[in-house]
Amino acid sequence: MRAVKNNTRDAREPRLAAFPAEGTRRTSEPRLAASHNALEETIDLYGIRNWGGEYFDVNRTGDVVVAFEATRGTPVSLKSVIDELRQRGISTPVVLRFPQIIDYQIKKLADAFKAAIQEFGYRREYVPVYPIKVNQKKEVVQEVLNFGDRYNLCIEVGSKAELTVALALTRASESPIICNGVKDEAYLKLALMGKQIGKKVFVVLESLFELRLLLELSKRLKIRPLIGLRLKLSARGSGKWEKSSGDLSKFGFTTTDLLKCLGLLDEERLIDCLHLLHFHIGSQVTDIKRVKYAVKEAARTYAKLRKLCPNLDYLDVGGGLGIDYDGSRTASESSVNYSVQEYANDIIYSIKEVCENEDVREPLVITENGRMVAAPHAVLIFNVINELSLSNGPIRVTNIESKPQVIQEMYDLYARINGKNYREYYHDVVEQRDEMFSLFNLGYLSLEDRGLGQELFWGVCERAIKYAKLAKHMPEEFEDLEHRLSRKFICNFSVFQSIPDSWAIDQLFPIMPIHRLDEAPNRTGYLADLTCDSDGKVDNFIDLRDVKESLELHPLNGEPYYLGVFFTGAYQDVMGDYHNLFGHVHDALVVVDGKGNCHITKIVPGHKVEGVLKVFGYEREELLAEFRSRVSEGVAREGLKTDWGNHVMREYEAALGSYTYLTLDK
Ligand SMILES: *Cc1c(COP(=O)(O)O)cnc(C)c1O
Repeated sequence: MRAVKNNTRDAREPRLAAFPAEGTRRTSEPRLAASHNALEETIDLYGIRNWGGEYFDVNRTGDVVVAFEATRGTPVSLKSVIDELRQRGISTPVVLRFPQIIDYQIKKLADAFKAAIQEFGYRREYVPVYPIKVNQKKEVVQEVLNFGDRYNLCIEVGSKAELTVALALTRASESPIICNGVKDEAYLKLALMGKQIGKKVFVVLESLFELRLLLELSKRLKIRPLIGLRLKLSARGSGKWEKSSGDLSKFGFTTTDLLKCLGLLDEERLIDCLHLLHFHIGSQVTDIKRVKYAVKEAARTYAKLRKLCPNLDYLDVGGGLGIDYDGSRTASESSVNYSVQEYANDIIYSIKEVCENEDVREPLVITENGRMVAAPHAVLIFNVINELSLSNGPIRVTNIESKPQVIQEMYDLYARINGKNYREYYHDVVEQRDEMFSLFNLGYLSLEDRGLGQELFWGVCERAIKYAKLAKHMPEEFEDLEHRLSRKFICNFSVFQSIPDSWAIDQLFPIMPIHRLDEAPNRTGYLADLTCDSDGKVDNFIDLRDVKESLELHPLNGEPYYLGVFFTGAYQDVMGDYHNLFGHVHDALVVVDGKGNCHITKIVPGHKVEGVLKVFGYEREELLAEFRSRVSEGVAREGLKTDWGNHVMREYEAALGSYTYLTLDK
């Protein structure tokens, strides 16, 4: 593995002209120089130039900007987009989508394979495939298809529902549709019908059971299928999805079954229907070595089969190309230790080498990279509503002599704790606190005493942490304590709806404020969402060398304070759920031109309350009618005016029509 810290910065490409040189002015204006330094420090702190490099940066006024080729050095501030949306009545949380970023990712992928094909003198073509499960949103799929057209990009599906979209939306008849996943008769029938109307619909089989079903159907419908077979490789992926590969994986044929499969096809005289071999070793493969091993194993199998199956012509190496979420360029879970070009080179070179060795014609190469294509285009933005902390600055007590003994002792610890005694005093205060709770439960202390005792306890803890941090090695107990004492930032979003992978599999996303970066963020804490669920929080954050438990943020100042969660374009949109009935968030499509202007080309409003209720079977009209009865009963029982009843009804109706999130940022 590389020495992370040193490589990351140097290896980056030169920055866009977001920071015009202004050396002379800076030296003559010391105040500006100071804030410039603060800005640089903040930029380093969030590591945006490590992970955001190609698309995101920070401008001189401390806003996160979207900055890539299309913005021609006139980057667009995300905060300005949010302000514009607010004027149009769209408040946070909102997902900003940059379709141009999808385009650039596709281009980068296709260009990398083109370069690899040229470099190694590979004689066949590369076919990029978008696995639609990564993000099925219409806006995303349409962008992928429109832009991907020039590279003959096609779609991979894993279910009947996904196939219906692919069949309708892909126009070019020669571009393949790849059908993966477990299949029933209806799914297979749809695929065969697609083939019959002239589309290249490949049915990638996972088992002998599916093969038998397909053979039976194709005989009945008199349609010769385009068959692909999924291999179960012994090579494994790396990272969180390692288990999707190797001998124990859920999918694919073992060699034994593969041979049975060929036997069956031969019997039915359908061996010429076999066109494609497929494997997939998992998403976000962090280590390039694993890709190489898997490709070599599959290429070898391809070459051997090719000698038996004259029409076998495609090798589909699945997905796995990862995103460097933390910017560390390592094989850690949130990163990848290779570039897109290296990925392409290794695939093309490995296949070529095996085919030369086996003396067979090289296959057309397919990759199914959805995460890489879709992740960077979306940024979730939400506002921070409130900050909560267990300790609130210096504690002043009047008349301490009049307080119970235990409180006096706690106050004494608080007042006299220092760099020499902090560990001992911390242990003492833990004892005193337990004593205090016992006394309270026995009825010897007032609520006021208990309140003061708690405040003093956290006060001692806070001071102890301060001294522990000054020590050479921070004792472990204080690290835990620091985490417990950390500030909680209540944020206007739902983890379960908008970044489900953060909750489900502890995936890390880069998170940072999108403005005020010219101010030093002097608070630290973790993020809590709106749901009534103690898991509804984010307390793991990216760091170059480690994972941080808290994030540096700014104190609230009365103005809306916005955070961005970056790279949420893959998987998050469809896997989110409705915990506490928080619904889909607003979506805004943003296109930037070369003059630094942004155009909000489409707004897809998020769920209203009534929209989410409908998902769970509550009809608006029914609710209104029921509630109207409750109101009339109440008005009669409580002796209210009828006018008031009407007013209540209007409020209820307004609530049904409102955004499911808080709309505090006026
Ligand atoms: C999920 C999946 C993909 C997508 O992989 P990513 O690396 O996440 O883009 C590709 N192929 C198959 C078969 C999949 O199941």
